[in-house]
Amino acid sequence: MVIKTGLGQDSHKFDVRKEKPFVLGGIEINFDRSLSGNSDADVVLHALTNAVSSITGKNIIGAYSDKLCREQSITDSAVYLEHSLSELGNYQIIHIAISIECKEPLISPHIERMKKRISELTGVPISDVGITATSGEGLTEFGKGNGIQAFVIITVKQNSGK
Ligand SMILES: [Zn+2]
Repeated sequence: MVIKTGLGQDSHKFDVRKEKPFVLGGIEINFDRSLSGNSDADVVLHALTNAVSSITGKNIIGAYSDKLCREQSITDSAVYLEHSLSELGNYQIIHIAISIECKEPLISPHIERMKKRISELTGVPISDVGITATSGEGLTEFGKGNGIQAFVIITVKQNSGK
């Protein structure tokens, strides 16, 4: 059985003013700030999409997602994720590990809802979606409250294709 791991990372800074809902890991969270970006700026789904791209070789976040945003007004990062998932072929995601670094908002109360949404989007069971969060003792811009960073590792297995 062929097993591969994919790695993705992303970061966004907070907008000076709140201009759109705050979306993280595919869910809306009640928070008085929002992240900057053309899309909904869901840094977790962008990192997850990048992890999938590292398996497929088809990069979605960047020029392609900007094009979807500009030409079709698609700002929902779940759509970008779906594009990358559609390129997986006979690879199947069997585990997703997510690490979030920020000072605020407090992530832990939202982890279960985030896991559920990511499970829905990817078809990976909730028990195989792991999410941790840290403020990193304020050593980085993320830990200081200026933005959010996410790392995602996915494990995929190759199903014998017909
Ligand atoms: Zn991003």
